[in-house]
Amino acid sequence: MLLNYLMLFFFCIYGSTRDSIENKKESRVDVTYLYILLPYIKRFNGYCALCVRDCTFGQTIADRNQLIRCKLYCKRRPICPFSCSVILVNNGSGTIAVERAEVRHPRGVKIPRPIRAPVRDSIKKQFANGSSVFLVHQDNLQARSVDERPANNYDRSGKSRNVIRKIKSEGIKQSLLGEDVDEGLYNLHKKYEAEVNIHGKLKGAIQNISKYPCQIIVYTESSIRLFDQLIRLKNCVLS
Ligand SMILES: [Zn+2]
Repeated sequence: MLLNYLMLFFFCIYGSTRDSIENKKESRVDVTYLYILLPYIKRFNGYCALCVRDCTFGQTIADRNQLIRCKLYCKRRPICPFSCSVILVNNGSGTIAVERAEVRHPRGVKIPRPIRAPVRDSIKKQFANGSSVFLVHQDNLQARSVDERPANNYDRSGKSRNVIRKIKSEGIKQSLLGEDVDEGLYNLHKKYEAEVNIHGKLKGAIQNISKYPCQIIVYTESSIRLFDQLIRLKNCVLS
């Protein structure tokens, strides 16, 4: 597998960027931008488990239109020497400059990139909807592309089923099903804070959090008005 190219490509990233920001979760390593770029980069190198190194955000003295500049390398380095730079500018265009074009993956060795948010969050949602470790792992194995299979690329599924199992445990811990009720309540509070009150104080909202008894109540102005209208109706029973 030998790639040798230097190319300029154009793409629209604004829609996907907006979606990703909305779905953004707390993460120790935020590489959301990498997941936006990957579908485009994969067209030229669908083999490597690409990771980021030396990322710069925003304009520089050299380029005032720059949005992001980062170097990508293969997880299997130094055996696989592939490396490239990706530069995006604020008119939606980008450049991939390949520094080392050779791709070399040892036979029989699985090569996965760490599964980060938003893919990690998406897997947690699958578990929340009742899926099993076996099914999620199999689905991700089957979803590997024709380039990823012969290259031993396991970006989607991780090295083994244990990776998916660990993500499931994380999801349970973060949900209300976790053993630590206090932590579950705190997470619920954070969730609603992000969904209902993302920009700070919400006018007309009354929020109450109680541990004993365990409950969280969020009233918005609309819900109070609706309640007011309902109790004015004749023969209306509210409980
Ligand atoms: Zn590689």
